[in-house]
Amino acid sequence: MSDELFDLIVVGAGSSGAVIASRASEDPRRSVLLVEAGPDYADTSQTPFDLVNSHNNSYTAHDWGFSYQPTNLGASRPFPRGRVTGGSSAVNTTIALRGLPEDYDGWAAAGNPEWAWKNVLPAFNRLERDLDFGDKPYHGDAGPISIRRYEWDELTRVHQAWLEASDELGYPRCEDANDPEGWGSGPHPMNKIGRLRISTAIGYLSAARARPNLRIRANTTTRKVVFEGSRAVGIEVETDGHVEVLRARAIVLSAGALQSPAILMRSGIGPREELGRHSIEVRSDARSVGTRLSDHPALAVAATVKDPSLLDPDQPIVQTILRYTAPDSDQRNDLQIEAFSFSPRGGNLNAFAVAAVLEQAYGTGTLRLASADPHAAPIVEQKFLEDERDLRRLTGCFRDAMRFMETGPLAALVEDVVFPSPERELTDDAVRTLLKKLSASGFHPCATGPMGPDGAVDQYGRLHGAEGLVVADASIMPTVPRANTNLTSIMIGEMVGEWVRKRGSELYGL
Ligand SMILES: Cc1cc2nc3c(=O)[nH]c(=O)nc-3n(C[C@H](O)[C@H](O)[C@H](O)COP(=O)(O)OP(=O)(O)OC[C@H]3O[C@@H](n4cnc5c(N)ncnc54)[C@H](O)[C@@H]3O)c2cc1C
Repeated sequence: MSDELFDLIVVGAGSSGAVIASRASEDPRRSVLLVEAGPDYADTSQTPFDLVNSHNNSYTAHDWGFSYQPTNLGASRPFPRGRVTGGSSAVNTTIALRGLPEDYDGWAAAGNPEWAWKNVLPAFNRLERDLDFGDKPYHGDAGPISIRRYEWDELTRVHQAWLEASDELGYPRCEDANDPEGWGSGPHPMNKIGRLRISTAIGYLSAARARPNLRIRANTTTRKVVFEGSRAVGIEVETDGHVEVLRARAIVLSAGALQSPAILMRSGIGPREELGRHSIEVRSDARSVGTRLSDHPALAVAATVKDPSLLDPDQPIVQTILRYTAPDSDQRNDLQIEAFSFSPRGGNLNAFAVAAVLEQAYGTGTLRLASADPHAAPIVEQKFLEDERDLRRLTGCFRDAMRFMETGPLAALVEDVVFPSPERELTDDAVRTLLKKLSASGFHPCATGPMGPDGAVDQYGRLHGAEGLVVADASIMPTVPRANTNLTSIMIGEMVGEWVRKRGSELYGL
């Protein structure tokens, strides 16, 4: 047990954790320790190329090596998660999209009034420096995360043709996909400048790390939370095989939607029968931990091109987006279609893709422990498309994505549609079977330790029935927002970070 007592320990330096540590340490009287399992690169000149290069995801060099089961019929797939300061924001595609106001108002209506759109909008504005629309009341122009959209002449020919096809299909243009009322197709807002990915390590930690009251401890894995009675007093960590306890007046778990619930369960917080399977003593029979996993299922149409020089894996993989609503749906913008400039994981296939994504899913999955060993990967079963409403809407969206490939300017580039096979007759049943077998995660897992009166934590992230333990990352989202989840995770960091800074004594006993 270390003698040093920090005010705050934040576990995980990802999209949420790096922000919480940065905001909390703005008060020089507060000592903050940020504990990260992966490495830390002190400045961009030392940052490896895979983390700098936002034109494609970094899949292996800074990854946890997890996998997941998408559907009951589908094969297990890799589930990338960043393992480095910046977390998944340091390895991702840099799509900087907000959820809809209705998403956050839905969280509020579920017993979390602090998260109503009117309350989270200032946090969204504070985190960003929107270089295109910073003067709008619903945007910020001075935050740590720079966001811009590609101009027409910066788009690859595939994305230009995709937008032209979208016009021909009758979708309206939307120049700012983050306009709260907007829908249609246009350039993606992206947190990148040129090639440089603006992760939370770069946007937030580069300025904060000079503070004497913030310490970053990298290459240190948190095994579990240590309690005295009902109060969390520290964390058990492992560095190069050496195990010790680090102590603080409050602990924030920000290890992400796959790791925060695993740490909770290893600490005795989770469904009783699940803990029992691994002989973990039950501290709290928290039924929602790992039982309400939410995500975005997706499937892409792929086509080869007549001119292979159009597909350059050194170009940005994603540049454009269509947000729209399924027919007969009462959930606005519950679908997304987006083009991929080339096959994401490389390989020989001379193909690009148009992906159909379900943005608002009713179905939920599960996350369980494989063992009590802190080094074991969790077992993730998404159970995608078991809800008929999800299957129906994604089936329609997939057909819409196919229509792009058949439409004027994009069709002109296509040599052959290679998936789904043109030999297959695509009845609705056939599409449904394809989706059930092959749909995959948009890499947006959340809601594995949801907030709410019936969730794992209250609306301030405080674990029900305990003191001194807060969870703040994608796991506390009650449901997946209708957007890629990085900006919402950073927003969660802003909300909780500011609560720690301004109301730390009242809310967190600091
Ligand atoms: C390949 C990929 C592409 C994506 N593309 C986009 C995109 O373009 N746009 C978008 O909006 N979203 C995208 N996402 C999703 C988005 O990045 C995540 O939703 C978001 O980063 C989650 O933030 P978080 O703080 O919850 O977790 P993370 O950012 O994953 O942070 C968790 C941190 O905790 C650390 N950690 C975990 N366990 C431990 C432990 N036991 N001890 C110590 N540290 C630990 C991890 O190493 C990590 O640094 C993508 C994700 C991936 C993986």
